[in-house]
This record gives sequence, C-alpha cells and structure tokens, in this order.
Amino acid sequence: MRYEGTLYRPPSEADAYILQATIGCSWNHCTYCDMYRAKRFRVRALAESLADVAEASRRFGERVRKVFVADGDALAMPLDHWEPVLHACRESFPHLRRVSCYATARNLAEKSPEELERLRGLGLGLLYLGPESGDDATLRRIAKGGSFDDHVEAARKARAAGMRTSAIFLLGAGGVERSAEHAAASARLATAMDPDFLSALTLTVIPGTPLAKLEASGRFALPDVAGILGELRTFVAGARPRDALFRTNHASNHLPLGGRLPADAPRIVAAIDAALEGRVPLRPEWARGL
Ligand code: SF4
Repeated sequence: MRYEGTLYRPPSEADAYILQATIGCSWNHCTYCDMYRAKRFRVRALAESLADVAEASRRFGERVRKVFVADGDALAMPLDHWEPVLHACRESFPHLRRVSCYATARNLAEKSPEELERLRGLGLGLLYLGPESGDDATLRRIAKGGSFDDHVEAARKARAAGMRTSAIFLLGAGGVERSAEHAAASARLATAMDPDFLSALTLTVIPGTPLAKLEASGRFALPDVAGILGELRTFVAGARPRDALFRTNHASNHLPLGGRLPADAPRIVAAIDAALEGRVPLRPEWARGL
C-alpha cells in the first residue's frame, strides 16, 4: 500500500484501514491549516487505489471493520472513482461496518441528492464535516469556503441521503476579538446541523500558515486557556442537537470530556466550571498535539 505525505484522520478512525484515494485537499485555503499545503490536490489513479484495497485485503482483510478514505476532503472524488472503490471495499473486507471520509460543505453542494444516495447505498455511511465555526465573520476570516447556511444545507443533504454526520468545531477560531460570537454561533450551528457526532478541537497557530502571519502582525490573538474553556462552556450549554455523541478527546484540547448532547450538558458544563476554578487538572501543554 502506498501512502503519500502525512496522513490525517479523526480520532474515532484510529482503528480504520486508511485508503488514500485522493491526495491533499481540493479547497486548501483555510488560513489555520497546514495539513496539505505541500500537496497539490489530485484523485489517485483508480488502479492504484484498487491495488491498495486488494493488498489490504490480502494482508488483513478479515480484521477490517472500518475504512477511512483520505485525504482532506475525499468526498470531492467523482462517482466514477467512488463507485469502484466502494465496491472493492465491500468485496474485500467481509466484516466491513462503515466507510467514512472528510467532506466540506462545498463537496456536498457539488454532489446531487441522487449521487449521495448512490454513495450511501454502496457503503459511504459517515461524513466528517468541519465548519469550525458558526460565526459567518469568523468563517470568512479563516477562509472556510462555506457559511453557516451552507453547512446547515450540507448536513441536511447528507442526512436526506441516509448518511450520518460528525461535525467538528474549532475553539479559538474567532480569536479574542470574536470569541463570544464564535462560541454562541457555533452552538447554534451545531443545533441546526443536528449531527450524530459532535466534537470540539482547539486551534493551534502553526508556523508558516496565513494565520501565523496574522498573529505575528498583531491582527489575530488566540484566547488564553480560560478563554478557550469559556468558549467550550458556551458551546456545550447552547448546542441542542437531538442526540449527539460529544467528544473533546482530540489531542489539541486542554480538557478531554465526553457524553451525549443535550442530555449530558449539565454534567459537562459542571466539569468545565470545575476546570475553570482549578479543581480539575488540565492536559499539560507538552502533552497537547495537533
Ligand atoms: S478544508 Fe480541511 S483540509 Fe482543506 S484546507 Fe480547510 S481545514 Fe485544511
């Protein structure tokens, strides 16, 4: 199996076989992201992807329960690649339970309802969507390429096709300046998207990114730890999906938490308050990662 560059996948796909059917991200403009800056987006040659699936099948096909299709917005891949890849996965992994990938609101806008239903029927059951913020001013500043409404529509379209969604928000994305608006609007967007899974990560300013240049010139400042936890508190207290599994277990976070929202919101808010008051230890800086 051939892999190109660094691979990224959500924490919940740690046990998945990763099939790198696309390289890079078709958008690649988000100001904080350096994951695929060195890669020019392309769809892998179909024969290469199918050869990788065949090799994975030979080596550990019986053990594969999940397949995560990389890289950064693999839903961009056209149907004439998705269909044979999903067929091959079904035939090669007898115990396959789900196929998932990262997707952007733009990817979903570019696929018709019929195409999404076709992909769902072939096994693509979960999309990881990262609006990062519900605040349109923040979304423009981070060059996310989609608005509040675009992400609501993307989630609606995925659900209408029978796919589950996992929505990812980014604490600190609004900077100090739009911290309150970012947190409150993100909670509203989480409610409106109504995902099955919901997570919050914490922004790290990565050297070399456009955001790092803004920070260096004084035009962006990341909230301090108390500010980040305050955003998390606002988000958890305000988000009202019907019933989403919520996690802050990503390595970037100061406080790993989990539960169902909205049912467990009071318990999670109490845990955040305890951390804000210093009664719960935070993950030390050296143990945090991207
Ligand atoms: S859509 Fe995702 S992978 Fe692409 S640039 Fe933005 S954050 Fe990075």
